[in-house]
Amino acid sequence: MGGCNATLLIAYACLAIGIAMAAGPARGQGPMDAAVKSAVAGMEEELVQIRRHIHSHPELSNREVETAKFVVQKLREFGFGARDIRTGIANNGVIALLQGTRARPVVAIRADMDALPITEATGLPYASEVTAEYTGKTVGVMHACGHDVHTAVLLGAAKTLHGMRDKVPGTVVFIFQPCEEGAPPGEEGGASLMVTEGALEDPRPDAFFALHVSPEVEVGQLGYTSGPTCAAVDRLKITVRGASGHAAYPWLTHDPVVTAARVISALQTVHSREVDTRQPSVVSIGIIEGGMRWNIIPDEVKLEGTVRTHNEEVRAFIKQRIDEIVGGVCESARCTAEVEWHAYGPALINDPELAEQVATWLKRLVGEENVVVLEPTMGGEDFAYFTQIAPGAFYRLGVRPEGVDEMAPLHNEKFAPDEGCLPLGVRSMCAVVLDYLEGSGQ
Ligand SMILES: [Zn+2]
Ligand SMILES: [Zn+2]
Repeated sequence: MGGCNATLLIAYACLAIGIAMAAGPARGQGPMDAAVKSAVAGMEEELVQIRRHIHSHPELSNREVETAKFVVQKLREFGFGARDIRTGIANNGVIALLQGTRARPVVAIRADMDALPITEATGLPYASEVTAEYTGKTVGVMHACGHDVHTAVLLGAAKTLHGMRDKVPGTVVFIFQPCEEGAPPGEEGGASLMVTEGALEDPRPDAFFALHVSPEVEVGQLGYTSGPTCAAVDRLKITVRGASGHAAYPWLTHDPVVTAARVISALQTVHSREVDTRQPSVVSIGIIEGGMRWNIIPDEVKLEGTVRTHNEEVRAFIKQRIDEIVGGVCESARCTAEVEWHAYGPALINDPELAEQVATWLKRLVGEENVVVLEPTMGGEDFAYFTQIAPGAFYRLGVRPEGVDEMAPLHNEKFAPDEGCLPLGVRSMCAVVLDYLEGSGQ
């Protein structure tokens, strides 16, 4: 069976390559690919410098003050006027506008700017040595999700497109977004706050695009997903309350420890027995907290975890069933339960038509064999909020060094993207903008 499938796949692949060679557009032959390519070739060193500056000066979510200043300084250097730059959006966000040869269509491209509370261990000469205060503790700060690359790429695209603004057939909105990783407790931020502040209303984009570095994809390659791309993220807190007492006399207590264990086990049936298992969903508990002493049954146990889904109906159903299951298990054990929900963001659904267009544009840049189709992830991405305003597509920039099978993943202290990704990041963003504006002539 496996052999047959492999042969078939190879046959299809050969057929696809054959068709691409016979009828597909030649590589690098888009509306302004050659001009973009030579502009980007002239800034390769600058892109590395920008990325390394941001990398060695990382700032946590909602604290991107210096990063935002650096972005503004670069935009001014690239020729953006003070009136074309808005700052202080959703705390530290920056939005720059570029009007080309006509006002509409309007296309938005976005980079996120925040770093993570992780102590860097890459050993690179420009590694971060920054520390900061996070939830009352001093922590290392690191760009371990590639947002330094994203910001450098968006600045590169801003410089390139500004340099050819008399050939840009529409308006480009450059979104430098703060706080993608989630606001510290008690704060708001990120894409949702940008949207609720009305920052994307004037002008209102007709489409949104963004890229994210991917350690799964080799440098020089790009990846995309059509339809559901990232998951809706919900955080849940469960408090199981019972009655405390001596651990030697459990029959005199209502034990929340045993009950919490039953709650955790019962939650494992949500995906396996409650939801259509063909629908992606995850229920994970990450924190169990309770008790003070080995011989005391406590009066309370707290659990915290996350639910990930790709579909709003499934999301609502899982919430409802978790409320019911937790309530039922606790009641049967003479305990009470409180379930709190915090929504971090909806699922990111790539507009299928736009995603296929993006794939076509990317294939033109790097060749069909270098654009990979990726599975949807259960990770979250708050770019989803922008795609509730207008259709959007999110794609991946390969950063795994050539010849390396596995590299440290995102959010890891050793994550070190191959900087060779930077020029292609810029070229791909420019192609997406120019092709979209060309193709949406009004
Ligand atoms: Zn991240
Ligand atoms: Zn990220």
